[in-house]
Amino acid sequence: MYIRDTIAAVSTPPGNGGIGIIRISGDLAATVGHTVFKPVNDGGLVSHRFYFGTISDTSTGEKIDEAMSVFMRAPRTYTREDVLELHCHGGWLVVERVLALVLSCGVRLAEPGEFTRRAFLNGRIDLVQAEAVMDIIASKSEAALQLAQRQREGILSRRIENVRSCLIRSLALVEAYIDFPDDDLGETDVTSICSSVKEAQDIISDLLLTFEEGRIMRDGISVLIVGKPNAGKSSLLNRLLNENRAIVTHIPGTTRDIIEETISFEGLSIRLLDTAGIRHTDDLVEQEGISRALEKIPLADIVLAVFDTSREFSQEDQLILEALAGCRTIAVLNKTDLLERFILPDEERFVSIIKIAALSGAGIDLLKQTVCRLFLHSAGLDSRESVALSKARHRDALVSAELSLRHFSVGLRDRNLELLALDLRNALQAVGTVTGQTATDEVLDQIFSSFCIGK
Ligand code: GDP
Repeated sequence: MYIRDTIAAVSTPPGNGGIGIIRISGDLAATVGHTVFKPVNDGGLVSHRFYFGTISDTSTGEKIDEAMSVFMRAPRTYTREDVLELHCHGGWLVVERVLALVLSCGVRLAEPGEFTRRAFLNGRIDLVQAEAVMDIIASKSEAALQLAQRQREGILSRRIENVRSCLIRSLALVEAYIDFPDDDLGETDVTSICSSVKEAQDIISDLLLTFEEGRIMRDGISVLIVGKPNAGKSSLLNRLLNENRAIVTHIPGTTRDIIEETISFEGLSIRLLDTAGIRHTDDLVEQEGISRALEKIPLADIVLAVFDTSREFSQEDQLILEALAGCRTIAVLNKTDLLERFILPDEERFVSIIKIAALSGAGIDLLKQTVCRLFLHSAGLDSRESVALSKARHRDALVSAELSLRHFSVGLRDRNLELLALDLRNALQAVGTVTGQTATDEVLDQIFSSFCIGK
C-alpha cells in the first residue's frame, strides 16, 4: 500500500555534526520550503538549485537557524516525488527543532527506509538496487562496497530481467496452446520454448555459483581461532589486529570469553573470533567460555587451530581435533622460533598448514593470504560487468525458480500444458521476488524496516 502523503526525516546520523540534513518527500515539499525557508535573495526557489537563507517558525516569527536549502521537482529526484532538503547546523537540538517545524506543516515522520521504498514503488529502482543502497551504507570493506555499487548500478537486475524475459516468452507460447486445445504443441515451438528455458536455467545456475563468493565479499570471512590454553591464540589475534586487544599472559586459560574483531585484508573483511582455550577444566567461568567456543565452531567459515610447536602433541590438542571434526580448518603451527617438538597427526584433514611465530609476526601475512585465497577463487569482480549474488533471499528465490524449471523440463515429456504453464509461472513468481515485481508487502516491510531512518 502506498499512500501519497508527504514524509520527512533527518537524513544525517544522530548526534552532533557539521551539518544536519532534513529531507522531505511528497506533494507538500514545495509548500514546506516556502513556509519555513526564506532565501536571502528573495526570488523563489528554482528546482535543483541551492539557496542560502534562514529557517523560521512563521507562527511565532522566531528564527531557528541559518541554512542552505534545495528543492527538487519530481521526477528527477531520489523518490521521484517532489523533494526538499534543508541543510542546517548539525547540532541535535537544532536539527530536532527544524524537523518539528517541518512536521507541523502537515508532514508525517518517515518510517525507516521509506524514501528508498518510494523510489522502488515509483519504479526508479528495483528491489535489488534498493537493497544495494543499504549495502553501500553498511559496507565494511572495499569488496563489499564494490559489489554493492555493481548491484546498485543494475548489473544483477539486468541478469534477472533476462531470466524473466526468457520465461515470459516461453509462458506466452505455452498459454497460446492452452487457448487452442485442439492444436498439439508444434516441434518448432517446443524447440523454442526449450531453448528459452535453458537460457534462463543457465543464467540462474551461473548466478548461484557466485553466491558463496558474493556472500564473503559482502559479509566478510568469519574466522574462529581455537587451541589449547597457551598455544598463542591471543598473541595471534593481536598480531592480526596489530594491537593488544586480547590479554596475553603465561597463565593458561586467561581468555575466558569470545573476543570479536574485524580486520580488512586484500579488500575483504575478516571477522576474527578468539575463543577460550579448549581443555578439561573445573573452573565454571572457563567452562562457560569453552562451551561458547564449541558452539561457535559451526558458525565459522574457517577455523584456525593453533598448536604450540615447542611442546609435544598432547591430549588437549587431540580434544581440539575431535571438536573440529568435519570443519574447514587451517592448522596454525605457532612458536616456530622455539625448538620444535611437535608432530601434527592427520595432516591431510587440514585445508592448509601454516607455520608462524605470533610473537615476531613471522608467517602472519601468508596466513592472511591463505584465508582470503580459500574463499576468493576467481579474480573477484574482474570485469565491469561482473556481479555476484550476495543475499540468502536472492539465492533462495533462484533455487526455488531452478526447481520449478526442473519440474518443467521433466513435465515436457507428458506435454500437460496446464502443468507446464504452472511451473513457468512458479519460476516467474520466484524470480520476480528478487527484483520486486512479485514481492509481497510483508517482504517489502521486512526489507525496508532494516534500513536507517532518513534513507
Ligand atoms: P593463549 O592462551 O592461547 O591465548 O596464548 P597467549 O597468546 O596468551 O600466549 C601464551 C604465551 O605464549 C605467552 O607468554 C606468549 O608470549 C607466548 N607466545 C605466543 N606466541 C609465541 C611465539 O610465537 N613464540 C614464543 N616464543 N612465544 C609465544
